Amino acid sequence: MLHHRSGLPDSWLDIVVRKVAVWGVLDDDEREHLAAASDWLLRHKHWEAAHGFALDDDITVTIAAQAALLVLGLSVDEYREVSAIIVYPTAMQSRGVYAGPVPGTVTDSVVPVLGEAHDGRGPVLLAWDQAEDAARNPGGGHNVVFHEFAHKLDMRDDIVDGTPRLDRREDLDRWVEVCTEVYDALRAGIERPPLQPYGATSTAEFFAVATEAFFDVPVTLEQHEPRLYEVMRDFYKQDPAARARR
Ligand SMILES: [Zn+2]
Repeated sequence: MLHHRSGLPDSWLDIVVRKVAVWGVLDDDEREHLAAASDWLLRHKHWEAAHGFALDDDITVTIAAQAALLVLGLSVDEYREVSAIIVYPTAMQSRGVYAGPVPGTVTDSVVPVLGEAHDGRGPVLLAWDQAEDAARNPGGGHNVVFHEFAHKLDMRDDIVDGTPRLDRREDLDRWVEVCTEVYDALRAGIERPPLQPYGATSTAEFFAVATEAFFDVPVTLEQHEPRLYEVMRDFYKQDPAARARR
């Protein structure tokens, strides 16, 4: 079902106050940017409900606000390749070959898929119950909206490799050095909390998982993985740990 394209509804402020916990720690400038980026997403993207489901303002605003948080220091233009946001009521059941829970294994059973990001001009698919819970109750290290939209940022340079576009050579070198060290440890089965072990699946999943930690548990990530926190902060051009502390 297609949702008519319009910007933020009149009730948007009430919705973010009720449903998006991070709103409470943003300053006025960040709130203004978040609202503008959310409005752009609602206006310029196709918002679609999966078969048998219907969208309402709570759903679109809550998802748009979380996607907008990632690009507060960047530009909404980073999302120009997102053709549509397709919302499912809950996890999609998918049969196929997936990376298993243990690195290097695969599973072909029916697995719940919380979200997907298709490359090129592809859509983002999201499970609403997951997106809603993560928005309201941050701190678990999981956020499907951050995860899937991070994949879209990674795809901006046409290579899905966990390295987003970095303009300066020295930033790229440092990014690769820092991320490779943590990624290799995860691959070796060494736990690096608060990063989810799923980050060991591929470099692309590593970036998505690191993004989830950076925005959802920033203070913990900064304490446990200060170098990773720093390269993420420099890429995203925002400091969620400082924000959470003030
Ligand atoms: Zn992923």
